[in-house]
Amino acid sequence: RRNMVADIAHELRTPLAVLQGNLEAMRDGVIKPTSQQLDSLHHEAQSLSRLVDDLGTLSLVEAGQLRLHQEAADAGDIIWRVATGMEAQAQRGGVSLVISLPDSLPRVMADTDRIAQVLRNLLSNALRHTPPGGSIRVTAQPSPQSTKELLVSVADTGQGIPAQDLPYIFERFYRVDRSRARSTGGAGIGLTIVRQLVEAHGGKVWVESAAGLGSTFYFTLPTTT
Ligand code: ADP
Repeated sequence: RRNMVADIAHELRTPLAVLQGNLEAMRDGVIKPTSQQLDSLHHEAQSLSRLVDDLGTLSLVEAGQLRLHQEAADAGDIIWRVATGMEAQAQRGGVSLVISLPDSLPRVMADTDRIAQVLRNLLSNALRHTPPGGSIRVTAQPSPQSTKELLVSVADTGQGIPAQDLPYIFERFYRVDRSRARSTGGAGIGLTIVRQLVEAHGGKVWVESAAGLGSTFYFTLPTTT
């Protein structure tokens, strides 16, 4: 627990230091408050607030206090909604976002907001790790393993994950590139939240990846039948 508090303090300190440093420099006239500067500070504040939201979700799940509102839902609808919301970001990054769904899918028992959050985290990782010219494909199909499960996948053609990091990426605060600046990456809790939310639904999540060969994240959800 002490480690977790130290980790959180560390994650909050970096973006706060950036905000503080820049605001002081503007106040003292060292840098001009151009709209570009303000945009970048706003971006920093936004990522701080996302981090605080994520930490809130994480602590709820870890305390076993997250209440899911599971109901019969159409996974295809959730996928379309989330992917459409991230289309602009994909375009800016020069990455094509492909959704590939069969004509009909079994309905799932899901808390749609939480599953949307799972997809957003996976897609935002895929976008961050896929260079321009690459692609991201989201699919859903009845699980080949079980008739009671739907299998969703998010595949990217990005940089991939080195074999030695693969066992740890779902651990909280684990990041492959430890040196990366906060503003260009996350705090290492996106995948922890993904795993917790999927498991809270009774599903499983896993990844197949190799350095240089892209990554595919899979998760399952229980169907209503
Ligand atoms: P972060 O906030 O750093 O993105 P996550 O928990 O979401 O944290 O991911 C943990 C680590 O897994 C990341 O630091 C990143 O290096 C790696 N990772 C996650 N998704 C991908 C991906 N699609 N491609 C390559 N690496 C990834």
